[in-house]
Amino acid sequence: MSHPFTEELQAGLAAVRAAAAICQTVQSTITPDVLDKKDNSPVTIADFASQAAICHAISQAFPADPIIAEEDSFALHQPENQQFLADIQKLIQRDNPTASPQTICEWIDRGGAKNYSPRFWTLDPIDGTKGFLRRDQYAVSLALIIDGEIQLGILGCPNLGSVSSGGHSLFYAVRGHGAYSMTLEPDSQARHIHATPKSDPALARFCESFESAHTSHSESSIVADRLGITAPPLRMDSQAKYATVATGDADVYLRLPSKTGYFEKIWDHAGGVIIVQEAGGRVTDLMGNPLDFSLGSELRKNRGVIVTNGHLHDAVLTTVQSVFAGKSE
Ligand code: AMP
Ligand code: MG
Repeated sequence: MSHPFTEELQAGLAAVRAAAAICQTVQSTITPDVLDKKDNSPVTIADFASQAAICHAISQAFPADPIIAEEDSFALHQPENQQFLADIQKLIQRDNPTASPQTICEWIDRGGAKNYSPRFWTLDPIDGTKGFLRRDQYAVSLALIIDGEIQLGILGCPNLGSVSSGGHSLFYAVRGHGAYSMTLEPDSQARHIHATPKSDPALARFCESFESAHTSHSESSIVADRLGITAPPLRMDSQAKYATVATGDADVYLRLPSKTGYFEKIWDHAGGVIIVQEAGGRVTDLMGNPLDFSLGSELRKNRGVIVTNGHLHDAVLTTVQSVFAGKSE
């Protein structure tokens, strides 16, 4: 396939595969090492090792590109976390035998860009850490944004292939060149993926977060009722939901604000958005506006996210708006 981002795609796929292998190793251990972040969300040695590995790989290939990523090394400098850092080092040293703890912290902090730039990457080293800890779905998400538009997106969803997606766990899209899926094996053959052609909302299958703190399950069930949907929602963590719509295993993904004042993070969406769009689907917020990736790390101009196969978008959007009408926030 010929497109302007061949080198970025090759570097990104190799980096996401390496990070997915790290995550799979950690997920197979009995109890992965966990820290609690300031916002009380968990972070594991795999989150840090994945971010270090991907930031290092992208920095080597594209030294001038900023990276806006989820994690930073602050906690790893605390005296009580030195064993945790040593465990991260063991994971990294399988591919980079000479990496020191300090080098690893530097690689993690390559992901510390905060502000918008004309060309940058955004990374969630493990999206859905809670799902990762439940041994459920999670995703490694990497995207390249140029002039505010996502040009390349890659999602590694190591546990998705075993339950759906025709056995595939790696997804990517380049703007204008379609969306594809593969296995995580390096020599895997890419397959073109497409959202469903379904246009009857009553027959739609929708997915949403497993965590009710991240999306309103009660409001999505009202939306489903009004649309005549009888199939139960597919609840799963991470941007695996975007991959599920892009491959046609679901038709809709709803993310309905569950609390006021929360802004979605760009790394929770960028990789998945372009994959759905290139698979023929549509992504907007609750107002029907496109997600605005030109504002730094948060989608400050958007509220909620609605993802569909395209054909169902107007019906789902109108119904969501009818449910949210009259709510001040
Ligand atoms: P999911 O696996 O789809 O539930 O999404 C996981 C992501 O939800 C995490 O990476 C967090 O960044 C994000 N998150 C945390 N709090 C909220 C919230 N109140 N609303 C929406 N997303 C949130
Ligand atoms: Mg995330």
